[in-house]
Amino acid sequence: MSYVKVSRRELTLAEKLYLPSILAGLKNTMSHLLRRGDNEITTMQYPEEKWDLPSYYRGVPVLVKDEDEREKCVACSLCEFVCPPRAISIIPKQIEGVVEKAPEVFDIDMLRCIFCGYCEEVCPEQAIFMSKEYEICGQTREELVYPMDKLYELGKTLGTDGGVKDAPKKWETLAREQGQQGLASDQDA
Ligand code: SF4
Ligand code: SF4
Repeated sequence: MSYVKVSRRELTLAEKLYLPSILAGLKNTMSHLLRRGDNEITTMQYPEEKWDLPSYYRGVPVLVKDEDEREKCVACSLCEFVCPPRAISIIPKQIEGVVEKAPEVFDIDMLRCIFCGYCEEVCPEQAIFMSKEYEICGQTREELVYPMDKLYELGKTLGTDGGVKDAPKKWETLAREQGQQGLASDQDA
């Protein structure tokens, strides 16, 4: 195997002392400190002030309900299957109504999530969305496994249907399909 030996450049005396770099840094700090006017402010009063994030920002994945406060998730587990780091855990339960299943447990481990957005992409019900929530903190690992209640709570920041116009509504869709197939639907719970 061939290789090229790259010789390291010798540092000058000034570089070895770090002083010019330190002075340049101090000069930069002082220039910000002495500026006046709102447009010149270079710091943010966090947490009272938050970042104005772009629309494509991908924060915590959250669950949303429809405008009738019904869970949109049908516990199909597609998002759990597609999630690269296996951050999602779903245990489905059977429910009464035109829809057969809903999640009993829906956890997302925020220590594992890589904010790829695959769960949002794959969801057939538009039930999970990438929010702009970026404050992910906790004292223990367990606190960073977000349970379903918390995911729905965070989902409220996106509004019903995740703010998607004309989002599919599973109850209406399935009731319509049952009607088309001549099946009785008295369970519009
Ligand atoms: S954003 Fe990606 S890593 Fe995070 S839960 Fe969704 S699929 Fe998994
Ligand atoms: S969030 Fe969507 S993809 Fe995930 S289980 Fe629920 S319906 Fe299926």
